[in-house]
Amino acid sequence: MIRIAIANQKGGVGKTTTAINVATALAATGWKTLLIDIDPQGNASTGIGVGASERGASSYDVLVDKVPVSQCVMPTRIPNLDLLPATVDLSGAEVELVSADDRAHRLQRTLTPDLGYDVCLIDCPPSLGLLTLNALNAADTLLVPLQCEFFALEGLSQLLQTVERVQQRFNPDLGIIGIALTMYDRRNRLTEQVSDDVRSVLGKLVFETVIPRNVRLSEAPSHGVPALIYDHACAGSRAYMALARELITRLPEKRKAA
Ligand code: ADP
Ligand code: MG
Repeated sequence: MIRIAIANQKGGVGKTTTAINVATALAATGWKTLLIDIDPQGNASTGIGVGASERGASSYDVLVDKVPVSQCVMPTRIPNLDLLPATVDLSGAEVELVSADDRAHRLQRTLTPDLGYDVCLIDCPPSLGLLTLNALNAADTLLVPLQCEFFALEGLSQLLQTVERVQQRFNPDLGIIGIALTMYDRRNRLTEQVSDDVRSVLGKLVFETVIPRNVRLSEAPSHGVPALIYDHACAGSRAYMALARELITRLPEKRKAA
C-alpha cells in the first residue's frame, strides 16, 4: 500500500478536488483505494457522496480514540473506493490530543499495509497543525496541489520546511511525489508567469499535467459525485485522469506489497 498525503496549508488550492478525483481515477484503473478525510470540514466525504448523516465512525475515532482504521472505513458508491470520513468533531481533536505523547503518530500506527489497499490518499486540512502532521508521519509521499497565483512559491517554502522537519524528526523516508498546478487559466498571464517560475525553481518535481480552471470541477461536489463521474469528458476530468496516470508512473513498484 502506498500512502499519499495531499497537503498544502493554504485553503482553496484544490486539495480536496485533487483527492476526490485522483482517488476516483485510481479506483477506476482497478486499484483498491482508500480516501482518508482528515479535514473537519469533511468536504472530501461530501464530495465523494457520503453526506454527514451517512457517516458513522470517522477519522476522529481513529485519531482521538485510537479505533483501528479497519473498523472505521466505509464503502462509497464507487467500486474499489472506500472512505474514512471526517466529521465536525474533528475540529476539537487538536485540543483533545494536545497532551498525548503519541499525538502526531495516531494515524501512522493504524495505517498498516495489511489493510489490503493498493493506495491510500489523505486529504489534509488547510493548516500545518497536528492533523496534517499525522498525515505527514503516516505517508510515504506527498502530493502538493499548488494554485497558480502570486505568493504560491512563498506558501510552498513554508510547506517544504515542514516536510524537512518531519523528515529529520519522524519520517526520514517521506518523499514528495509531485506538485500539481491547479486552477490553471491559460488566458491569464499571471498564471503562466507563476507556472514558469514554479517550474524553473522546482523542475521535475512539478507534474507535467496541469489542472485547468474548469467549472465542472466546482459543480460536481454539490451533486455528491466526483467530477470524473459527473462529467467524465470535461477538461477538468480529463486532466485529473492524466494526472493519475502520471502519478502512477512516478510511484514505486511496491503498491501490491503486503
Ligand atoms: P482545498 O481542499 O485546497 O481547500 P478545494 O479542492 O476544496 O480546495 O477547492 C476550493 C474551491 O475551488 C472549491 O469550491 C472547488 O470546487 C473549486 N475548485 C477546485 N479546483 C478547481 C478547478 N480546477 N477549477 C475550478 N474550480 C475548482
Ligand atoms: Mg479541502
